[in-house]
This record gives sequence, C-alpha cells and structure tokens, in this order.
Amino acid sequence: MRDIVVIGGGVLGAAVAWALSRRGLGERVLVLERSQPASGATSRAAALVTLLRDDPAMVELARETLRAIAVLEDEAEEVGRRQVGSLHVGAAGQGEALDALAARCSSLGIEVCRIGRDQVLARAGWLEPDAIEGGVFVPDDCYVEPYLLCTAYLRAASRRGVRLMTGVEARAIHHADGKVEGVELTDGSRIAARVVVNAAGPWANLLSADAGLPLPMAPVRSHYWITEPTSAVERGGPIVFLSEIRAYARPEVGALLFGIREQRPVAADPRGLPADLGGFVFDARDPEGWESLAEGAADLARYFPGVETLGMAHYISGPSNYTPDGKLIVGADPALDGLYVASGCNGSGITFSGGIGRLIAEMVCQEPTFVPATAFAPARLGMFDPFSPQFLAACAAARARKSAG
Ligand SMILES: Cc1cc2nc3c(=O)[nH]c(=O)nc-3n(C[C@H](O)[C@H](O)[C@H](O)COP(=O)(O)OP(=O)(O)OC[C@H]3O[C@@H](n4cnc5c(N)ncnc54)[C@H](O)[C@@H]3O)c2cc1C
Repeated sequence: MRDIVVIGGGVLGAAVAWALSRRGLGERVLVLERSQPASGATSRAAALVTLLRDDPAMVELARETLRAIAVLEDEAEEVGRRQVGSLHVGAAGQGEALDALAARCSSLGIEVCRIGRDQVLARAGWLEPDAIEGGVFVPDDCYVEPYLLCTAYLRAASRRGVRLMTGVEARAIHHADGKVEGVELTDGSRIAARVVVNAAGPWANLLSADAGLPLPMAPVRSHYWITEPTSAVERGGPIVFLSEIRAYARPEVGALLFGIREQRPVAADPRGLPADLGGFVFDARDPEGWESLAEGAADLARYFPGVETLGMAHYISGPSNYTPDGKLIVGADPALDGLYVASGCNGSGITFSGGIGRLIAEMVCQEPTFVPATAFAPARLGMFDPFSPQFLAACAAARARKSAG
C-alpha cells in the first residue's frame, strides 16, 4: 500500500522520495507533481553546490548532497556535475580576512587551500589583478544541471519502487483527530496516506497554512544573468564568490553566469504565484532586474573590467523560499501526526537536497537524525500570518543578509 505521499516533484520532493526508497520504503511512496518534475524553482537554479555555511549542521547537509550525487553517478545517473571547486576571492588588503576564512573552513572540516593572487588568476583569468589579494579555494564544491539532478533522484527512486504521478494537483491535506489521513486532489478525489511530505516549493504554504501549520518562509526573487559569449572566461574555471560586492559567478558555456545580491530583495505573496512560472515577474517596474544590475554593475566591473560592454544574453529569475532566521524548514508538524515539511532553503535547495532528503527519511522512520534538526522545526515561530506584508518583508530582508554560498 502506498501510504507515504510526497507533494511536489522538484529537487526536494525528488530527494525525499529517493532517500525513502534507499531505506526500503520505495513501494510505499507516491510523488504527486501537478506539472512536470523540476518545472518549479528547481529548473531555474544556478545549481551551485557549496559547502561553506555558518551553521555546522548545514555544512553536513550540503556534504550529504555531494555524497548523494556520488551515489547517483555510481548508478550511472547523469547530473551534469562540473567539479570545478569554488574560489572565495578577497579584495586587495583582505589578506587577514582570507586567512580567517581558511581557518573557519578547516574548523568546519571543509578542505581548503589558501592561495595568492597569481594562483587565483591562474584559475580565473577574467579577474582584474589589481582588485584582488588572493583567495580560498574549496575543491569539493561543484555545480550541476538542476533538471538532471532532480530527474536522477526520481529515476533512481522509481527503480526502488517509488511511483511518480504527474499532472496531479493536491488541493488539501486531510486530517482527523490530530492525524494525517491523506490528500485531496483538485478533481475532488482523495488519496489515503499515513504520512504526507509537503515539498511543494514556493507553493508549500498554501497547503500547510490551510492545515494549521503556517511555514516561516516566503518566496523571494532570486536572479542571475548570463553574458554574451566571451573568450575572457575560461571553460572549466571555478565558481567565484566576491563577498565584498555580494556577487558570485561561474562559467556557462563560453560565457559568464553571475548573480549580484540586491540591497532590497522582492518577496511575493504565494497566493499570487501562478503554477506556471514562465511569465511571472516579481517586480512589474523592473521585470528584467535591470535596476538590481545597475546597482551592482560598477562594483562588478572593478573585478571584471569590460563586463559593462558585454551584452547580457539571458536573465533568469524565480522564487526561492527565504526564512526570517535563515534556517531551513525540515521536520514534522508537532500538532498533526504524519505531516512533514521539506522546504525553506534560502536560495540553496540544490545544495541541501541530499541532506534534506536524508533528514526527512530518518524522521519518517523514527531514526535519530544525522544532524541536529531542532533549529529547522517548521513550527519554531508559533502562529503568525505567512501572507502578511510585514512577514513577506522579513523574509525578503533575510536574502539581503545572506552570506556567500
Ligand atoms: C534564480 C535562482 C537561482 C538559484 N540558484 C541556486 C543555486 O545556485 N544553488 C542552490 O542550491 N539553489 C539555488 N536556487 C534555489 C533552488 O532552486 C530551490 O531552493 C530549489 O529548487 C527548491 O526546490 P523545491 O523542490 O522545494 O521547489 P520546486 O522546484 O519549486 O518544486 C516544487 C514542485 O511542487 C509542485 N507543486 C506545487 N504545488 C503543488 C500541488 N498542490 N500539487 C502537486 N504539485 C505541486 C510544483 O509544480 C513544483 O514542481 C536558486 C533558485 C533560483 C530561483
């Protein structure tokens, strides 16, 4: 009997299904996806998988994703991994800060290499030599193809018995006497279940709030640009973090993909988020993010001279669930037996997917969790209105505060 329903076939629902299947529960798991796998936030991601975080538990969750990728690849799944490492670049005069960063990484068990300016330039020749002091290189970081990673989790899960239903939309989570009973679909039919995992991404609050569990998160715009092709950017170069200007960059088929974190991020009310994100714009005044680009362009040009004259070939934007405290939302509803949530990734759901999948599988199986998870509890903020303008603003502010990664 399929008594575990996962709502959402994005990278998190897929990773949860995969982790459950690896515990021998595949025949009991049904994934419901109203569109196609990865059609939500997942396919829009820059898909960096990076270890460095402030919270050691989150480092472990990211490390678990690297392990998951290795297992999937062993099973001949292609996830589009580019094992290029990441380079945290320090501005001129920032030598001590780089030393401190290298020491912090080491204390978190992250392998790093503190390098000087010449070695930085040997890896990322597009950087302006005079602007930089040196860097900290993290060889284990990589980026992937997010659609491939999501579908690889799902394919590997389906080989272990998980069933995926597409074109099926959950309307409500059913419960009685403090226990989950199943899911109601938009066609009015019901699927009975003992366990429901809400992995509906930016739409997750629509289902959870309705079931009495408002989630402390809101969809906030994440975005990046891809330049026209340029010979200045080496193929196979590392991910580059420029924390001084709140930017990251990586090669993308002969061009540079880069994101600049804006000072005033924009949140959306999930009730207004369409199922098809194709034509959705967060900010009607600035649909293509030119304002954010203009805000950071001069800073970026200090590190990448000539970027101002390069055309922008693509602008990609989409929703990421940000939480006011910057923590994930992973865990059980204390008031409703059988309801779990996998969300609230603060722009890093690809990075944490493997770790979140494992955490949820351990919780469903009532095993001890491999990292402390109380900080990620869905009900940690008590009752509040997840759709109020004040709450949306608090989530947007969390993106403005986010550190590199
Ligand atoms: C521009 C951008 C860049 C990013 N870059 C990175 C990065 O470099 N690294 C990183 O780690 N993360 C990155 N992220 C974040 C990452 O994409 C997300 O954290 C992650 O994809 C979230 O996955 P998800 O499964 O929770 O959500 P989604 O991918 O949105 O999946 C949710 C799924 O649920 C389905 N669904 C919703 N409601 C229902 C329902 N009622 N019934 C059935 N199905 C339903 C949807 O159709 C959707 O497919 C980025 C995000 C954006 C937008």
